[in-house]
Amino acid sequence: MTFAVRIARVRARMAELDVDALLLSVGPDLPYLIGYEAMPLERLTMLVLARTGDARLVVPRLEAPRVERRPELFELVEWEETDDPIALVAGLLSPSARRVAIGDHTWARFVLGLQRALPSCAFVAASDVVGPVRMVKEADEIAALARAAHAVDAVAREMRSVTFAGRTELDVHRELVERMLAAGHERANFAIVAAGANAASPHHDPSATRAIGDRDIVLCDFGGQMHGYCSDITRMFHVGEPTAEIADVYSVLVEAQEAGVRAATVGTPCQDVDAASRRVIAQAGFGEYFVHRVGHGIGAEAHEDPYLVAGNTRPLEPGHVFSVEPGIYFPGRFGMRLEDIVVATADGPLRLNDASRAIAIVA
Ligand code: ZN
Ligand code: ZN
Ligand code: ZN
Repeated sequence: MTFAVRIARVRARMAELDVDALLLSVGPDLPYLIGYEAMPLERLTMLVLARTGDARLVVPRLEAPRVERRPELFELVEWEETDDPIALVAGLLSPSARRVAIGDHTWARFVLGLQRALPSCAFVAASDVVGPVRMVKEADEIAALARAAHAVDAVAREMRSVTFAGRTELDVHRELVERMLAAGHERANFAIVAAGANAASPHHDPSATRAIGDRDIVLCDFGGQMHGYCSDITRMFHVGEPTAEIADVYSVLVEAQEAGVRAATVGTPCQDVDAASRRVIAQAGFGEYFVHRVGHGIGAEAHEDPYLVAGNTRPLEPGHVFSVEPGIYFPGRFGMRLEDIVVATADGPLRLNDASRAIAIVA
C-alpha cells in the first residue's frame, strides 16, 4: 500500500476522533506514513499533518540530507541551530486547531514545550489515531513478519542441539543474539534466558553468574527486527529429562496456547483469546500462576496494538498480527511460557512460527 493511502486512512481516523492535527516525531508512526525515521536526538523532528491541506516535515537543517524528498506527501521545513523548533511547529498549526494528537514516543520536553506554546489545544495520543490503521497489516507486512518469524524458528531449532549445562544464562543469551543476527535480523531486541526458579520471573534478566545446571528447565524468549518488522518467540528447554510434574504442567501450557490460537478467529473480541487460554490453565488449577495477558500485537514494534487482554473488546480483523503466549510461573520453583506469532485471516488463525513446540531435551 502506498504512503498516500495510509495518510488518507489516518486522516479519516482524525475526522472520526475530531482531531485537527497529528504531530509525529520519533517512533514507528512517522516511517509508516512517510518513509522517514526521525533521529532520537535532542533536536526536534516533527511531521505536522493537519486533517486537510499540505503536510510539513520539520527537521533540523543538518539532518535534511537524510530525508528522501517526497513532495507529493510533505513539504520539508528546515530549522537552523538558533531557531526555536517548538515555535516553528506551533506556527504551522491552524489557529483554530483544538485537538492535537501527538506521537506516543515523543520526548516529554517537546510535548511540554508544545503544550505551553498551544494553550488552547487538548493533546491526545497518536496511537489512538494511527494504531487502528497500523494494526491491520498489509500483505507485504505479513510477509515480512513471516520471514522474521521463520528466522527465529530456525534459531529455535538450532538451539535444540546446543549444550546448555555448565554455561551461564548470559552466555546462552549472547548465543541467541548472534544466531538471530546470523539468521538475517538487523537487530536483536531481547533474548531472555531464565533457568530453574529464574524462569518464574517472566521478564528475567539473563544472569552473568547463574550457571545452568544438570536438571534445569530453561526458558528462552527472543526476538529482533528483520527488514523493519519484529519477531518474538518463546521455547522451553530442559537439561536432561523433565520431571513428571514439569511434563504435566507443560502439557497444560501447550493445550492453553492451542486454545488461545484456535480462539483467534476474525470477529472474536481480543479479550476472548486471553480467556480461552486462561480457562485451560485455571481448570488445571494453575490460574493464579498465569500472571500476564496472553498476547500483544507485533509489527514495526515488538509490542503494539492490539493487546489480547481482559477488557479489550475490539474484535479481531483480518490482518491483525499478535502473539499468543500463555505462561505458568511458580515463584521460587520454575516457570514456563510458550509463544507463537499468529495472524488473523478470513480462513482462520494462522501461526507464523512453526518451530517444534515440544520441550527440547538438551545436554
Ligand atoms: Zn514479554
Ligand atoms: Zn516473547
Ligand atoms: Zn511476546
